[in-house]
Amino acid sequence: MSDSVTLTIDEQTVAVPAGTTLLKAAQQLGEEIPTICFHDHCTANALCRSCVVEVEGARTLVASCVAQATQGMKVHTRSEKVERSRRTILEMLDSAVDLSEAPEILSMIEDYGADRERFPGAERREVPLLDDNPMYIRDYSKCVLCWRCVQVCAEDAQYTYAINFEGRGFETQIGTFFDKPMPETTCVFCGQCVGVCPTGALKPKREFMLDQGIAPADLGVMSSGRKRRKRTLAQP
Ligand code: SF4
Repeated sequence: MSDSVTLTIDEQTVAVPAGTTLLKAAQQLGEEIPTICFHDHCTANALCRSCVVEVEGARTLVASCVAQATQGMKVHTRSEKVERSRRTILEMLDSAVDLSEAPEILSMIEDYGADRERFPGAERREVPLLDDNPMYIRDYSKCVLCWRCVQVCAEDAQYTYAINFEGRGFETQIGTFFDKPMPETTCVFCGQCVGVCPTGALKPKREFMLDQGIAPADLGVMSSGRKRRKRTLAQP
């Protein structure tokens, strides 16, 4: 088997090592495919579908974060079909989730000309903010279910398994087992989940309190908390 494959992406030819994903092959050409759930330090999971591309001969659009380049493939990253699909995903997300602190997604909405009023009256994900520990808050009304926090809490980084998906369909959200407060779970407050969250759904307690207009001098919260985190993965 050859070690490299040659394909065309948006009419440009590129050779990449076998096993390279279409997302990475496009990046090699300087083409940026938009992503939401993808993070360089997490296992790609193709959940958000914003990175879909059109492959000639394929029946459906394929998620470029997991689809591998093959010899002779012809890929289109911004065809009309692709743009319509991405636009619809953004419109659906915007109709249900508070994206006010998700700058990358807001810029995608702008870039794709997503209609923010396309689904008027749609049910919104409105859940109470969870403030149950001294280190970070959880505001799942801002959660796009990208799964990054669950992945870094598990095999992608920390092997702690404090959080997971719970619920079904529209009610799906991230939570702890039996909805236990975070201090009663296996959470070690490493901060990995906060570091990879793209939407502000997870936020350091100090930042949250400053957002509420509480003066830095009045913030005693960090000194009374547990030890500071070991390391935090950077945003992509
Ligand atoms: S809380 Fe943040 S990182 Fe976790 S699934 Fe929601 S948006 Fe993604």
